[in-house]
Amino acid sequence: MKNINREELLSAAEIARRVKELAAEITAAYGGRRVLLVCVLKGAVVFASDLMRYLDLPVEIDFMAVSSYGSETATSGAVRILKDLDSSIQGKELLIVEDIVDTGLTLDYLCKNLLSRKPASLKVVTLLDKPARRKVEFIPDFCGFEIPDYFVVGYGLDYNQDYRQLPGIHILHPEKGELQPEG
Ligand code: 5GP
Repeated sequence: MKNINREELLSAAEIARRVKELAAEITAAYGGRRVLLVCVLKGAVVFASDLMRYLDLPVEIDFMAVSSYGSETATSGAVRILKDLDSSIQGKELLIVEDIVDTGLTLDYLCKNLLSRKPASLKVVTLLDKPARRKVEFIPDFCGFEIPDYFVVGYGLDYNQDYRQLPGIHILHPEKGELQPEG
């Protein structure tokens, strides 16, 4: 693993406390109704697996993997679906579980795509939100932490596939121009 300078932004204990609070908010919002968690691979895996264990609701989980098409479509926000859901979501109550909202383009596209499949409802929970970087208006229904415009890793989030296993969230301080967000 490349040794890039990093500093802790959120400790494992702070995240654990907030995840339990979020789970209580979500439990209250669904009032006992069954919810299908749509975990966005790979970054949200750690968050989704912690969150679901504190939801006092009937819960199912499914997974999607997406990647951005690249710079030529960056303004349209088109994303490529690398792995789709296993089954129909028609009539189901969906909660997208995401690691971080940055420009908002990924979730804007994902919400439109999933809404076209006629779920009963669609909400979004994100662990982290960087509102300063928005290109499209997007407000998550539930959010763990708003953070400044840093590139962060850990608790599922990567840099070139490294650092996902760190228990806390860390800010990377690489050489200028070295960081490119990945899916
Ligand atoms: P969007 O810009 O479409 O809101 O976010 C797209 C994706 O970029 C996120 O799901 C996440 O995978 C990645 N991303 C955005 N900001 C960061 C960051 O600070 N760290 C890491 N590791 N990934 C990020």
